[in-house]
Amino acid sequence: MIDVRKGIGMTSARTRDRLVQRLRDQGINNEAVLEQIRNVPRHLFVDEALASRAYEDTALPIGLGQTISQPYVVARMTEALLEGFAGEKVLEVGTGCGYQTAVLAPLVKTIYTIERIPELLRKTRRRLRELDIYNVQFRPGDGWDGWPKYSPYDGVIVTAAPDEVPHRLLEQLAPGGRLIAPVGPQGVQDLVMITNRNDRYEQVSLGAVTFVPLVKGQA
Ligand code: SAH
Repeated sequence: MIDVRKGIGMTSARTRDRLVQRLRDQGINNEAVLEQIRNVPRHLFVDEALASRAYEDTALPIGLGQTISQPYVVARMTEALLEGFAGEKVLEVGTGCGYQTAVLAPLVKTIYTIERIPELLRKTRRRLRELDIYNVQFRPGDGWDGWPKYSPYDGVIVTAAPDEVPHRLLEQLAPGGRLIAPVGPQGVQDLVMITNRNDRYEQVSLGAVTFVPLVKGQA
């Protein structure tokens, strides 16, 4: 067995530097976010057979019909969420393999994350623990409902695409808080950033993206 944590080949510092430079070239300029993209061992979030492609800027299949998000999109969403972020608590919908969770975790106080496929959540919980990430609370369930118990959240990040922004997620957003979500049907999704300005929700479009759908109901 090769110890995949020891940097050889695909996991080398140079490979990761190349990815970070690519994201910089595409306009990501939050240094803390770029540092996280460099630090998080993405090859441990994909199947071994795909590990050699882990530092390419592309989405990859992770089984159970799900994907690991493209590093650029993870960086862009994280950067947008943290812009002007003064809070502590983030709600994440669509844990998946936990790559987005791992990138964001050291940059906030606590992440509350929801995933509808329990088997995936179990694996991800274990993986994040192995990476010494402890400020994440996991919940199997339907993200459309959010997680009212710990609301309001300073940030909400959705990593699967609903047809329209779930109103329960907006309701769980603290004043001044921000929600980032891909919205729309397959093929025509738009990444939206919504800020709770107390008297209104301000919405900005961050461009086209491709995510798996935010499925309705429990698995
Ligand atoms: N955040 C991941 C990518 C997640 S892919 C990353 O960093 O790579 C989207 C995930 O959303 C899948 O795991 C899927 O099972 C989950 N999902 C889909 N519909 C959901 C719902 N209604 N509630 C919670 N999770 C959901």
